[in-house]
Amino acid sequence: SAIVLNKEDVIGARKACMGSNVSVSYSSEPLMMLRGRGSWLYDETGRRYLDCVNNVAHVGHCHPKVAAASCEQLGLLNTNSRYLHPKRVSYAQRLLATFPPHLGLDTVFMVCSGSEAHDILVLGGAYHGHTSALIELSPYKAPAPDVYRGPVRRDHPRPGPAYADLLADVIRDEVTAKGRKLAAFFAESIPGCAGQLVPPEGYLRAAFEHARAAGAVCIADEVQTGFGRMGSAFWAFDAQGAAPDVVTLGKPIGNGYPMAAVVTRRDIAQAFANGMEYFNTFGGSTAACAVGVAVLDVIAADGLQANAADVGVYVLARLRTLQEKHQLIGDVRGMGLFVGVELVTDRDRRAPAPEQAAAVALACRRRGVLVSTDGRHHNVLKIKPPLCFSRDPLSTLPEWSTSMCT
Ligand code: PMP
Repeated sequence: SAIVLNKEDVIGARKACMGSNVSVSYSSEPLMMLRGRGSWLYDETGRRYLDCVNNVAHVGHCHPKVAAASCEQLGLLNTNSRYLHPKRVSYAQRLLATFPPHLGLDTVFMVCSGSEAHDILVLGGAYHGHTSALIELSPYKAPAPDVYRGPVRRDHPRPGPAYADLLADVIRDEVTAKGRKLAAFFAESIPGCAGQLVPPEGYLRAAFEHARAAGAVCIADEVQTGFGRMGSAFWAFDAQGAAPDVVTLGKPIGNGYPMAAVVTRRDIAQAFANGMEYFNTFGGSTAACAVGVAVLDVIAADGLQANAADVGVYVLARLRTLQEKHQLIGDVRGMGLFVGVELVTDRDRRAPAPEQAAAVALACRRRGVLVSTDGRHHNVLKIKPPLCFSRDPLSTLPEWSTSMCT
């Protein structure tokens, strides 16, 4: 192997030559991974870890069809979107075809990261009368639709519309009452960093309707939730019957190849075509398009959306069985393979248990299972594995995973 440094050397060299705020997981006992396959990562000793975190390696670590598509294209041509290329337009068409036709989402901008996808939107929003600086300065925040811990809970008869009404109140008090219009409403279709908060039935649809009535362009952030992870739908907004004007895509779109996209309607895209050319050095590169097509092909060929539905239901059921046994587990929630387990030290008071969540994540890591923690109180264990995840990952490997990647 070309790697000559041992783990201790790497830790030392990393400290010496990289920024100290570049984060590392399990900082007290960091991991060094040298190989990935399906749902598994392999460290320098060859020990394998079940990856329950990586929603970027969406179709499985190092899927041979994706690896082959990128190798082939990198060996043939990789250049920017200023040259015509048949793969670029066919990828755009393939991607757009994954959206419900009635939404009219017919235009795509290819970029390199989820953050860039949002930068484009700030500019787009500017057309609606607010400068980008103003948008950054005035983020009105409505309560997150958290039916476990928030102001409206699962015992409410109609929690979805109730949370949407709370949003409408914020819009009325902070925007329309002041004679203003709302430029944009951003929503992760299922808030992930907030702790896998699956919105109650009808929330997202009604929230978009309220925001749109105040003049906003409605933006669904599908960076974590998209590409079949929900099981019941290819997009999490669609699983909730919501109708965005713009959708931002990232992480899973390239299975680890750095690419992202903004999908919108032509009328909104035209507002962005304000006379300045749009060019992105790496966005929509020939290789990115080849990878993007391969990822869509593999999702379909390997039946990954159906697998996410099946295994997701199973994972939730098993976690709920654990919840019956362990007082520490306050809530289990999720959709498809996007699951959260909220830990509490006291079920009645719902007192967050961040230290216990960190301890569970570390204990899992020592047993060879990688999960992450998140949420406002850092007490939610997140499970969002590659979609080839199986009911019994120890004994069932995807067929392709047994052949070595060459
Ligand atoms: N949106 C969401 C929901 C995300 O989780 C992230 C990354 N964690 C981003 C956007 C930004 O994506 P990137 O890191 O590719 O810039």
